[in-house]
Amino acid sequence: MVYLDNAATTKPCEQAISAVVFNMEEEFGNPSSLHSLGIKAEKALTEARKAIAAALICDPQCVIFTSGATECNNAVIFGAAKKLGKRKKKIVISAGEHPSVSEPVKHLETNYGFSVTRVSLSRTGETDPDLFISEIDDDTCLVSCMLVNNETGAIAPVKKIFSYVKKNFPECVTHCDAAQGFMKIPIKSAELYADAITVSGHKVHAAKGVGAMYLRKGTGLSPFSFGGKQEFGMRSGTESVPLIAGFGAAVRRFLPSMNTAYENAEAINRYLLKKLSKLDFITVNSGENAIPFIVSFSVRGIPSEVALHFLESKGIYLSSGSACSKGARSSVLKSMGLSNDIADTSLRASFCRATSMGEIDALVSALYEGYESLAKI
Ligand code: PMP
Repeated sequence: MVYLDNAATTKPCEQAISAVVFNMEEEFGNPSSLHSLGIKAEKALTEARKAIAAALICDPQCVIFTSGATECNNAVIFGAAKKLGKRKKKIVISAGEHPSVSEPVKHLETNYGFSVTRVSLSRTGETDPDLFISEIDDDTCLVSCMLVNNETGAIAPVKKIFSYVKKNFPECVTHCDAAQGFMKIPIKSAELYADAITVSGHKVHAAKGVGAMYLRKGTGLSPFSFGGKQEFGMRSGTESVPLIAGFGAAVRRFLPSMNTAYENAEAINRYLLKKLSKLDFITVNSGENAIPFIVSFSVRGIPSEVALHFLESKGIYLSSGSACSKGARSSVLKSMGLSNDIADTSLRASFCRATSMGEIDALVSALYEGYESLAKI
């Protein structure tokens, strides 16, 4: 199997799996229980919290565990609307946001009278910080900008945008969906000027269904769910200790080698781009400032789904656009001003630290073979 769909999800690492199993089979207590089994579960939570905090360079008390990035994004967006929405009715996001940001924002627009500005992207998916900043004013309650785009890998100038917001409109909530950037590029929470940062376990070799939010102290957002006051009272409900422990284990495992992984991805990326440049039926959509782990490209005349099925028949797994859009035309590529032809024939190859040059060779020769046979049909 050649797995090049790591932006959709990654293979859980051994350390994550062992931690999940251990916390289900052995230390299965409720972290809120006062007996020793509960205390052990609480310790597992604390250790995982410290691991995520080390990766986000923040105080562990700023880390709130959730069920994943989608929950984090929804919680912050509705939290900001609840906090400021009576006085401030404007939301500014980038046009490339993941549906877990764009859909809750649309819900506020459609049902609660918010006005939403979606800042358009350049033809290679870049966010222009000055254009973004020009849309923010005193009526803005929330600014949300993703760190790394999940379809193109474009890195957004989040720090520049958020520092402007916090200096000029300190009340406005700044939120960054960093699901695709976490553990790939360094994130220093405080220096990002973010009130909240979203990360997800299954993008970093942990299980699905677990994520975490960095929440700056003193944001004044009210709890996302009410009940037993877990997660510093912000997110009630018994924590999924096994999944959280697995998340922590994966982060501990890979944080020290983040730079090496980045360099490996750069080499893989260069190798793929060089090979693709020799195929005249391929157009690369990702820009130069994209993270090396993600490459979006289009195969002339071959609808994404057809190409995906062909590649799968060769044991090669990719996505069309994003895994979440499930066959719908990519709104990200459209907002970059690319044609329907390009959007409808786009594929996304995404790498992890285990991706090899041999896998890239397999992809490129399958693309060549596929184009030769499919283009004739
Ligand atoms: N944001 C981005 C940028 C993503 O790529 C994803 C996963 N596709 C999500 C949010 C949602 O993550 P989760 O599956 O953890 O809810």
